[in-house]
Amino acid sequence: MCNGSLPPNVTNATFGVALDAFRKALGGAFVVTSSDGLAAYLDPFAPGDAGQHAASAALIPASVDDIRAVLRIANQYHIPLWTVSTGRNFAYGGAAPRVAGSVVLDLKRMNQILEVDETLSYALVEPGVSYFDLYQHLMARQSALWLDPPAAGWGSVVGNTLERGFGTTPYGDHAAMQCGMEVVLANGDVVRTGMGAMRDSRSWQVFKAGFGPSYDGIFMQSNFGIVTKMGMWLMPRPAGFRLCHFKFRHDGDLPAIIDTMRPLRLDETIQSQVVVEHAVRWAAGVSTRSQWYKGPGPMPDTAIDAMAKTLGIGRWNMRFCLYGPEDLVAARLRVIERAFSAIADARLDANAWMPATTMPEGGGDQSQVGVPGMAAFQLLNWRGGTGAHVDFSPVCPPTGRDALAQYHLVRTRAADFGFDYYGGFTAGPRHMHHIFAAIFNKDDPVQTEAAHALLATLIEQCGQAGYGQYRTHLDYMDRAAAQYDFNDHALMRLSEAIKLALDPQGILSPGKQGIGGTRFTP
Ligand code: ADP
Repeated sequence: MCNGSLPPNVTNATFGVALDAFRKALGGAFVVTSSDGLAAYLDPFAPGDAGQHAASAALIPASVDDIRAVLRIANQYHIPLWTVSTGRNFAYGGAAPRVAGSVVLDLKRMNQILEVDETLSYALVEPGVSYFDLYQHLMARQSALWLDPPAAGWGSVVGNTLERGFGTTPYGDHAAMQCGMEVVLANGDVVRTGMGAMRDSRSWQVFKAGFGPSYDGIFMQSNFGIVTKMGMWLMPRPAGFRLCHFKFRHDGDLPAIIDTMRPLRLDETIQSQVVVEHAVRWAAGVSTRSQWYKGPGPMPDTAIDAMAKTLGIGRWNMRFCLYGPEDLVAARLRVIERAFSAIADARLDANAWMPATTMPEGGGDQSQVGVPGMAAFQLLNWRGGTGAHVDFSPVCPPTGRDALAQYHLVRTRAADFGFDYYGGFTAGPRHMHHIFAAIFNKDDPVQTEAAHALLATLIEQCGQAGYGQYRTHLDYMDRAAAQYDFNDHALMRLSEAIKLALDPQGILSPGKQGIGGTRFTP
């Protein structure tokens, strides 16, 4: 039987029958019910009781046929399934399901890199392929293609892209670089999107739309299907690159930084995503908080200034990378330097141009040249104790006015709850992701509760100011979805209508992004 909780509205006896059927379909080793086994599916950074999102079991299929068998059983016994690819969606819930007692459908065994096309610059992968796996594969075959890693390289290409994750190269908008999916629907039907809808397509990974409506987008951040294959465009390795870091001395420089950066990003003088980070975020990558401040409450400005001076960084720090032949890169940098010279006390630190066959040393920088890493987890040591974080992630238009409004709101509320502003902006041409991490010691219930309350407050108050989340932790999915309220929540009505049509039993990831959860939640 099972040591965990039960799926909602399912009796112990019925769940036992379903588990036996799952075991018959997958083999006993791939049906996890022990408490030790299920501990791996708890949210490691839960801003509260991780048990509120505990799975009742986990299933580890090896193929599309296995998934179809699982779906038959789940439909028969009304068992909710929460799909993950590698389950490393840390700070947003990890592998844990939204609705307690759901069964996690863990696709890590489906980990084939099915194709890398050097001529057309794409890869076709299964859900269990991590960024590290794909990177190793590209290295081993001496590929002339780069991938775009997100902050932590151990997660999957499929999971990160479906969550609309991002990185920092010119291919940093993962959802925009995705082309073609294979999806298993709740009724077991297997669909290929775009050009893949042709049996012998030669264009599945090169043209997104296909013929008729395009569907890839509806399988992102949704619970409408189980994605089993995905095409990703890869970046042709450039001749060389130059990593650049501007340091800005004054807290009040933020609007000028954003307004100077935007046109350069829009006209692609700056090709990569641009990361504009607060001093605290930079410092947390290389030091711990107690080195700089031991007093109560958030770090005061004086301590932040002293820290920035000692570390040789700015109050704001802007990272980007230029790519191409040396003379072209030099010309781009001249234009950029000229633009930023209008901001007093701005300083540029640029590495020398390097051919793309050599790689720079060091965490964050490496991701801008296609090398995945794990440096992002350094922040867990910032506050001491057992570090965890939960992320607040509003979309911000790339204007100085909007950036300043969000920064002030987030920094002030964070301070109210005792948190430092650990934040920054990652800029594409027409939007920025503003990411703030509430870092807490998860062994400290007071800090944990404060992180939880802060996130809820920020989502509400940013929503009132017209800013919505691009992604959120399991605990806040309904709250974040509620901010999308045009025409009395017409978007949610559309999502619920699609959900009902595709998954009438509501078995796929109930509650994901606020969709289809009511059957299972009080
Ligand atoms: P990571 O790649 O970071 O390990 P996860 O595997 O945790 O990411 O996936 C992140 C989220 O994306 C999951 O919580 C789930 O909602 C969704 N997801 C992941 N993989 C799939 C998939 N193959 N099909 C449908 N949804 C998925």
